[in-house]
Amino acid sequence: MPLDEVQRRGMLLVLSSPSGAGKSTLAKMLIDSDPNISMSVSVTTRPPRPGEVDGQDYHFVSTDDFGLMVNRQELLEHAKVFDHHYGTPRGPVENALANGQDVLFDIDWQGAQQLTEAARDDLVKVFILPPSKQELEKRLLERAQDPIDVVQSRMAKANNEISHWAEYDYIIINRELSEAILQVTSILDAERLKRTRQTHLSDFVKQIQEGL
Ligand code: 5GP
Repeated sequence: MPLDEVQRRGMLLVLSSPSGAGKSTLAKMLIDSDPNISMSVSVTTRPPRPGEVDGQDYHFVSTDDFGLMVNRQELLEHAKVFDHHYGTPRGPVENALANGQDVLFDIDWQGAQQLTEAARDDLVKVFILPPSKQELEKRLLERAQDPIDVVQSRMAKANNEISHWAEYDYIIINRELSEAILQVTSILDAERLKRTRQTHLSDFVKQIQEGL
């Protein structure tokens, strides 16, 4: 492999937003379009929604099993969101990073804070804002996967999630999905070019200099 293509340091790209701001759609588009980034599949005690696949959308586990994973320190971060527990399995993230792969996280502000403590230098945090409160409500209702009382509770909690926007490195207002995906891709491209992530660059530069 030519020296300018050698492994770089993988990054942890966190996407957070209130439910319904389009984060899951953006995450899926990013994963489908870029082979160098993989999705971290969280464990959760929440029951599956219609159409959700175990092992793909989440690892659905019992509260007891979740507790065991916490005790065995198998989770990189974990939090209670709404009425359920969510957490990030440590193993797949460590494997991906070791292989120079980036990892995408769809987690809330609590998870983002914990990852900041654990992996500050490898972390890039992006917050997705909806264009308005009305649009957020409309998207939650259109999703129609959740009962109406769940939608109402999520609206009530959106304010709390949004209040953490200033803890993030980048803010995207999701007016148009096509524009938002371009913006996330630009962030990923620029962050990959950071000197500190191009770990083998000094050897590459030496090779150029020796040829001069
Ligand atoms: P949902 O139930 O709609 O799939 O997710 C609810 C919230 O939990 C979302 O804000 C999502 O980002 C967050 N979430 C999903 N997985 C994790 C996780 O592993 N850790 C944390 N901290 N939050 C998560």
